[in-house]
Amino acid sequence: MERIYLDNAATTPLDTEVIDCMVNVLKFNYGNPSSTHSLGQEAKTILEEVRRKIADSLKVTPGEIVFTSCGTESNNMIIKSCVNYLGVQRIITSPLEHKCVAETCLEMKKLRGVELVYLRPDSTGDLDLNKLEELLKESDKKTLVTLMHANNEIGNILDIEKVAHLCNDNQALFHSDTVQTMAHLDLDFSKIPLDFASCSAHKFHGPKGTGFAFVRKSSGLKGIITGGPQERSLRAGTENVTGIAGLGKAWELCQKNMSQYSQHIIDIKHYCITQLQEKIEGIKFNGRSAGDESLYTVLNVLLPYKNPLIGLQLDMKGIAVSQGSACSSGASKPSMVLMSVLSEEELDHCTPLRISFSHMTKKSDIDAFVQVLEEIGKGFVIEKADSIHR
Ligand code: PLP
Repeated sequence: MERIYLDNAATTPLDTEVIDCMVNVLKFNYGNPSSTHSLGQEAKTILEEVRRKIADSLKVTPGEIVFTSCGTESNNMIIKSCVNYLGVQRIITSPLEHKCVAETCLEMKKLRGVELVYLRPDSTGDLDLNKLEELLKESDKKTLVTLMHANNEIGNILDIEKVAHLCNDNQALFHSDTVQTMAHLDLDFSKIPLDFASCSAHKFHGPKGTGFAFVRKSSGLKGIITGGPQERSLRAGTENVTGIAGLGKAWELCQKNMSQYSQHIIDIKHYCITQLQEKIEGIKFNGRSAGDESLYTVLNVLLPYKNPLIGLQLDMKGIAVSQGSACSSGASKPSMVLMSVLSEEELDHCTPLRISFSHMTKKSDIDAFVQVLEEIGKGFVIEKADSIHR
């Protein structure tokens, strides 16, 4: 059975050039970057070259890039350290955040008594930045704003430049979870005055278990993993040289081919939208995911019937997508993001599905997916298609 992979927001397949690069490093560059001998220094050079490459693209200094094990670690480090070391007493966030931000904020509330304030999205998943400004002005407490750049489920993009200026003007720190946009959008942090951001290599054809945090030099952030002086004491532990080399190669390929990759993915996404509209009666799209202003890699659809087994049924036909729900013991519960943007009626009668693309996705993948979806849909009555309200 041919496998069709449409779950690229969850993770992406490794680029073959990335694999080759990593195999080389595994074979030959086994030195510890902290060792002073030449094998160690060769490994150190690999790290520093990747760091410089990333810093150049983001228009920051290499010292502001801290290698970590993943996006989750980067987000944890930033939020926890802001509370532990920078005196943050209040966090403004939203229900759209990834669990690694949401749970960390909740922990800071529980363990450190931090005040947690949520900006509620509207039914398209957009946040009200006037409300954010009001919140920033209404308290003297040292505040961290943590809002993601692009949502991993519905693809809404936040104007992080505007938010960064609002935070700067009101003496608040600003962290953005940029895991879904790093290496997909052209980011220039010399123009976006945010304090912290995060990255995960496996979202752009690099290896799992490698990422970095962007930490603005002036912020004074400290690490939460203590030990050796690696990563300028911001993240102790021998660096994952192979993973970082893979991250660097994946980053380089994405930067070099960004316009070509993004145009291909935009075309594929448009094709998918038109095919779905043509073939699946009553289909809708969630959040802003079908609009040109959304993250081009993500499309979130709402099927006009209830079928909690859809992910499994597609998987049995070799098609991998995401259902946007956490399944436990057979019962599936929609994610916080979907609960925020869908009406109760939609949650009761419809089925959300996230399809996410990469430059490796082919039109024939979309054809096969839409055909299987059409077949599955035949078993369901679409009685409510026109009467379901948002
Ligand atoms: N933030 C967002 C928006 C994500 O989509 C993900 C991954 O799904 C993460 C953070 C976590 O990244 P990692 O898998 O590297 O821990």
